[in-house]
Amino acid sequence: MKHRNIAIFVPHNGCPCQCSFCNQKIISGKQNQPSAESVKDAVRVALASKGEYDKTELAFFGGSFTAIDRDYMISLLETAYEFIKDGSIDGIRISTRPDKIDGEIIDILKKYSVTAVELGAQSMDDEVLLLNRRGHTVKDVENAFLMLKDAGFETGLQMMTGLYGSTYEKDVETAKRIIELKPDTARIYPTVVLKGTYLGELYESGVYKPMTLEETVKLCAEILPMFLKAGINVIRLGLHYSDDVKENFLAGGFHPALMELVEGEIYLNEALKQLEKHPKNKPLTLYVNERELSKMKGHQKRNEKALINQGFYCIIKGNLYLDKYTVLVEE
Ligand code: SF4
Repeated sequence: MKHRNIAIFVPHNGCPCQCSFCNQKIISGKQNQPSAESVKDAVRVALASKGEYDKTELAFFGGSFTAIDRDYMISLLETAYEFIKDGSIDGIRISTRPDKIDGEIIDILKKYSVTAVELGAQSMDDEVLLLNRRGHTVKDVENAFLMLKDAGFETGLQMMTGLYGSTYEKDVETAKRIIELKPDTARIYPTVVLKGTYLGELYESGVYKPMTLEETVKLCAEILPMFLKAGINVIRLGLHYSDDVKENFLAGGFHPALMELVEGEIYLNEALKQLEKHPKNKPLTLYVNERELSKMKGHQKRNEKALINQGFYCIIKGNLYLDKYTVLVEE
């Protein structure tokens, strides 16, 4: 099923606090607040573009949608709703903060046919939330999530890894607790330290040591399979690679091919697990699904090199029938 999101960024508007990692204007790449007119233009341009889609949704992303000025929020929703009524689009998606969901907001979202709500949970550890100035608690995440689920929305939860005060173990625990809530979708954002943020200050003064890219890949290679095993669709891993982020980057898990690196690591881990049962220094053949061959070989062949470094001489071959992340070894 081919799905299209018409993304409208509503940057840094209405946030009751300034989260440690956030320079939303850089992240979203937009500085202006969209007007009803600009929403109409964006939809018309998207609808006029080529391509066959089974489903088109308008997505208000980038800030705390339900925390913005109420009249402004309703004007954006009313504009989007006109396109739903005439059948041009199929739904509206929004992202927001967990402490900005209540019964009144839910009624408004329902009234305008909002279909999916994503919550920025970021961590399921109260201390980490506090240290990163999130301004909400784990309980807020759970309460908001259950209200949205009960109201019948498609739900999404976003988590971050490597925040100030977090650890590898705490991030794995956050993934577990998010999975227990059973959202329909998840996004995993490794922390990227940007200029102009509180984390940037902490990093430059030596108080905060962000996770390296290597540590991030290792961690994500552990948590991504946990989500997939639970049947949760991970719709994004890693911050969008943009010139703005690149220019303001200080440290952290940022790479244009982060997903590729993580999936390569998952294959390497699985291959090494299977190879434990086989002798070293002997020719072996590794089979993976043929659509996954490049991931098994790794970004710039790093897995092939890693296997050789560990004493395994393997030819990597494709197979039509193997499941994703499955590795078979033949002597
Ligand atoms: S709530 Fe979201 S948009 Fe607002 S400061 Fe925090 S991360 Fe940025």
